Parts: sequence; structure tokens; C-alpha cells
Amino acid sequence: MENYEVFAIKYATRDAMRSGHFIGGDPHDAPMPMDYFVWLIRNAGRSFVVDTGFSAGMARQRKRTFLRTPTEGLALLGVEAAAAKDVVITHMHYDHVGTFFDFPAAQFHLQDSEMNFATGRYMRHGRFNHGYEVDDVVGMVRLVFKDRVRFHAGSAELAPGISVHHIGGHTAGLQCVRVATARGWLVLASDCSHYYEHMETGRCFPTTFHVGETIEGYDKLRTLAESPKHIIPGHDPLVMARYPAPSSALDGIVARLDVPPKD
Ligand SMILES: [Zn+2]
Repeated sequence: MENYEVFAIKYATRDAMRSGHFIGGDPHDAPMPMDYFVWLIRNAGRSFVVDTGFSAGMARQRKRTFLRTPTEGLALLGVEAAAAKDVVITHMHYDHVGTFFDFPAAQFHLQDSEMNFATGRYMRHGRFNHGYEVDDVVGMVRLVFKDRVRFHAGSAELAPGISVHHIGGHTAGLQCVRVATARGWLVLASDCSHYYEHMETGRCFPTTFHVGETIEGYDKLRTLAESPKHIIPGHDPLVMARYPAPSSALDGIVARLDVPPKD
């Protein structure tokens, strides 16, 4: 089995309160900032980018604190976005697919059910469309016509030791990524669990299409991962605190996930 290095690259952040992050609010309201990441999986033979983040313009529009473009973040690890061959899109929310145009050589790995959801009846409703940008969705449709979208239904192996798995919940077609590493099976949960706390306490982030799939999804993540400590949530600042930077120059910017956490 091939092993891979896995990195979380932080490209944006925003201040937020706990009450905004849980269905039903939170009785102990306090600050709970949100980080925004893209991820990189690589070994000597191949590399996969997981999600493409959002642009500086979108950060201004949605009032997020922008730190660097996802492309700049990948360049810090020596990866040229323009040459990337494979990009997994966990789901098509603006903060996960927003700079797809910076990857002109890539094929994009997406669940059938995510494209169906993002172009179907539920997008009539603000409740479900607010996380999407119509230009991103249309852009991905254009890539379908250029044969640059690889559709998956459920679980699929993308390469030895790298697979995607449909989870749903947050969006109808949300998928996670499972990666073989030297410390065992790692799962990039993306928004299958925004924070560690969601999966640890069985609670839901408010932007949710299907509560049942979200909560069942936490069990699926635990089944796929070597241990709960091998599951990487999608937006939790604790990821940067728990995992070491690959070099001191990248402290606070990149976390290396294929090595054990500090605590
Ligand atoms: Zn997200």
C-alpha cells in the first residue's frame, strides 16, 4: 500500500460565536472563530488537491478575513495549481469550489448527488442555496461539457490508498476523502464535521440539508478512519493547534496531518 503526506493549508478565517455553529444554538455562548482550508495529499508519485477555497473578491463579498489565495498556499508546498492534475471537490459550497478556474489542467472529482443537488429543485430556496454561488455551479457545469468532471456515486478509489466516500447531510452530495498514511487511515472530513465538537457531541452545524445523514455520517467517518484522532474536521482552528507545521516558516499556515497530533 502506498502512503501519502497530507497537509491542511489555511487561507482565510473569520470571527464567529458558538451560537452560530450549532442547530439549536449553544447555552454557553462564546467566541468560536472559523478557519478555512484547502488540503493537499501527495507522495513521490502523485498529488491530489482537496477543495479549492474562495477568491479575494468572494472574501470581500462575504466579509471573510482573507490570508492568501489557495493557489499561494499550495505554492508554499511547492505545488503549482496550474499544473495540478486531480482536484477533489468535497461539495460545491463557495468556500470549497470557489477558485476552480485556477486549476486549468485538473480533472475535478465530484459526487453525482452534489451536482444534482446544486442544479436541482432545492436551489430555489435561500435555506439551501446560500452556501452556493451560482457562478461556481455554472462554472462546474461548463467543465462537465469539457469532460473535466469525474463523477462518483458513493465510494470510489481514485488511486491506491486514496478514496472518496459519499456522506451527505450538510449538502446532499458531500463526500469525505480517505488517505493511507504512515500513521494509518486518515479521513479528511471536510464539512462532514465542521469542528471536532460536532462529531464528538453528535450535534449539527446549522447549514444542513439532512440532519439524519449528518449524524449517521459521524459514524461513517469513524468507521473509515484508523481512530477518531485520524479524522480532520473542515473548519476547526484546533487542527492548526494540534498538528505541527512542516517547517517553522509555515507555522500557523500549514499543518502536517500524516504525523500524530501533539496532544
Ligand atoms: Zn465549508
